[in-house]
Amino acid sequence: MPAHLDALAEATDRGFHDAFGRDCAGVWSAPGRVNLIGEHTDYNEGFVLPFAIGARTSIAARRRDDGVIALASAQFPGKIRTIPLAKVGPRAVPGWAAYPAGVAWALGLAGRGAAAAGASGVSLYINSVVPTGSGLSSSAALECAVALALHDLHGLQATRAELALACQRAENEVVGAPTGIMDQFASLFGEHGSAVFIDCRTVHGENVPLALEAAGLEVVLADTREQHAHAAGGYVDRRASCDRAARILGVRALRDVGVGDLEKASDVLDAETFRRVRHVVTENERVLAAVASLRAGGLESDPAVLGALLTASHASMRDDFEITTPALDLAAATAVEAGAVGARMTGGGFGGAVIALVARERAAEVAASITAAFARAGFTAPRLSTVAPSDGARRDR
Ligand code: ADP
Ligand code: MG
Repeated sequence: MPAHLDALAEATDRGFHDAFGRDCAGVWSAPGRVNLIGEHTDYNEGFVLPFAIGARTSIAARRRDDGVIALASAQFPGKIRTIPLAKVGPRAVPGWAAYPAGVAWALGLAGRGAAAAGASGVSLYINSVVPTGSGLSSSAALECAVALALHDLHGLQATRAELALACQRAENEVVGAPTGIMDQFASLFGEHGSAVFIDCRTVHGENVPLALEAAGLEVVLADTREQHAHAAGGYVDRRASCDRAARILGVRALRDVGVGDLEKASDVLDAETFRRVRHVVTENERVLAAVASLRAGGLESDPAVLGALLTASHASMRDDFEITTPALDLAAATAVEAGAVGARMTGGGFGGAVIALVARERAAEVAASITAAFARAGFTAPRLSTVAPSDGARRDR
């Protein structure tokens, strides 16, 4: 384990002891993610291609037998939250505790305790280096680390795909955020050197090689530090547009609309809804093209193919889906002008971050150009870093 991750696990271990006055039974962690390509396609039963990043959320945990989930977080200091598992349900838990309590609920922890003729329960201490609300999915990192900890501690017989679905259910029903399955799959199935290609209809994930280092490439992440708000923001509205369009077009989901169907769709949809549909349909095509290129070794032989797909994805999100902001557009355009192979906003939109695929030797220059352009435009200074495909959720100690 890299030294900084070992230090995170160690700090989480100590944090548990300080919070609960006893040792934990183990430490688990799960990563945040960036989406390489495939935005707002997940809930349309389409394709996405995220990868797990190095930043992780760490959980120290210990079973208890009083039917309670007890929670403390280094990032949200305050007194320990103790919630009877029997009281956890849809929208029943306020604040951040809804994420871990929701996972326990979705995994049926309360019921399991009763069946085993003794109350179930768990104490959890959370400690994370995934920034919240930046489009890196700190929520899925938290859920997946909790899910794996509960799985191991309570001897649950569940596959990683089942854990991902339980995490999604926790977020949809207990938190009340209507998000897709991408983030949890990326966090649970991530692998060093690969992206995770997910068919969101069959809920099947497959690793696709993304050997940046061998190709002499880096992914620069420019976080605009504009906070997005999924539940309150335009996410819900975009989702409703897609559902409406699918109904009008007579398909189960926009996944079933092809590029060849667009002309006909433009006859029956209003102009705005048509643009929403065109984004989803062309974005699915771009994901499939990206996967084909990566599988054929295109990252090394012709990275411009993937780069062009990223840049086209940004234009589609800007012009058709209308989920970018001036800061996101500036970051993406500046990256390309400064020599990036391609760049796009990543995440749900309305704020968040841009990723740029860049030759290693140009990465510093691209980052500096974005910083300078933001200063000239009077935007908040962006946070620049690099991200690389990393391992998914695991037990650390
Ligand atoms: P994102 O997933 O893009 O970071 P979300 O709004 O989906 O943004 O999830 C962020 C929320 O997840 C936080 O507001 C908080 O409720 C919860 N969360 C994330 N990380 C932690 C943490 N370390 N401790 C407690 N809650 C957390
Ligand atoms: Mg989230």
